Amino acid sequence: MNFGFDFDSRLAPYAAHSAQGRGRAFAEPPAGSRSEFQRDRDRIIHSTAFRRLEYKTQVFLNHEGDLFRTRLTHSIEVAQIGRTLARSLHINEDLVEAVALAHDLGHTPFGHVGQDVLNECMREFGGFEHNLQSLRVVDSLEEHYGDFDGLNLMFETREGILKHCSAANARQLGELGERFLNRTQPSLEAQLTNLADEIAYNNHDIDDGLRSGLITMAQMMEVDLFARFHHEVAAKYPGLPGRRALYETSRRMITVMTADVVATSAALIADAAPASIDDVRAAPPLIRFSDAMKAETTALKRFLHANLYRHYQVNRMRVKASRIVNDLFEAFMKDTVLLPPDYQVPGADVSKQARKIADYIAGMTDRYAIREHRRIFSIDEL
Ligand code: MG
Repeated sequence: MNFGFDFDSRLAPYAAHSAQGRGRAFAEPPAGSRSEFQRDRDRIIHSTAFRRLEYKTQVFLNHEGDLFRTRLTHSIEVAQIGRTLARSLHINEDLVEAVALAHDLGHTPFGHVGQDVLNECMREFGGFEHNLQSLRVVDSLEEHYGDFDGLNLMFETREGILKHCSAANARQLGELGERFLNRTQPSLEAQLTNLADEIAYNNHDIDDGLRSGLITMAQMMEVDLFARFHHEVAAKYPGLPGRRALYETSRRMITVMTADVVATSAALIADAAPASIDDVRAAPPLIRFSDAMKAETTALKRFLHANLYRHYQVNRMRVKASRIVNDLFEAFMKDTVLLPPDYQVPGADVSKQARKIADYIAGMTDRYAIREHRRIFSIDEL
């Protein structure tokens, strides 16, 4: 029953309107007091995969320290930045929130290295891609409802989750894969969540990098964007202790990045004048940084890549993690009887079994994978 709420009245005509959504694979009655996208957000928050994000790596492994970002806190930061941006542009905040909270659900343990190793292991069986896995989680792996597998989310939410996808995979995804084949755009909400993701990690990785001691403040001053605001903070608050000076700097960076996205995108939208979400899909990307800000964020990313993501201590963790994922996959493929019964598919062809193993490993948290590795390979462990 709809209680008479009009969820879409404050949205621009080019936003994703809840009432005009393309719907769910399994038809359901309206959610009543919630919009369709609020319902999606709630299903995501109640999912098992969402709780697992708490113990999955962003850059630092979960056991390296309690204050580093995990996939969970990262996703919450993306949602927060995304909602602010969405509201400024009069597009659907609820859809942005749902996509932001779900965007990393398919991540393996140990961050990107887990995906790369699993992709290599799965090469003969269709590969492994975390984006596609996020979709698989919400479309089929979650077991919560009586009527359907997965969370039965709206088309627009699923479209936002599937950020990129190879042509081969797109061909198997029906309507959802079409945009990768005919090169059209997703909703503005999906485009915006991508940028919110970028703003979130570019800023929080500076904090985590400095906290870990792997990068120093002196190094950070090589990045123009950072140095500019750090000087501004130092001038306003002479002698401010390091951590406060850092946070005063990063809040200014987030503000300037979000303001840039809003101004640039508002101008592009005004120019293209889309009258509906269909016009948005046919237009070039309309949510973006200005060229000047794009150059600054690219320089920041390059710095983080060279100095943090490829730091030798991060590399050591990465190599150890890749061994764990690889060992687990090989052991399960060789002796499927080691798998929990739910993941054994006796008599099925090998690629079905491999996919089940990939699902099992991808669902593991960092610490579960470490423990499972010990359980499989150490005679002392039960
Ligand atoms: Mg992310």
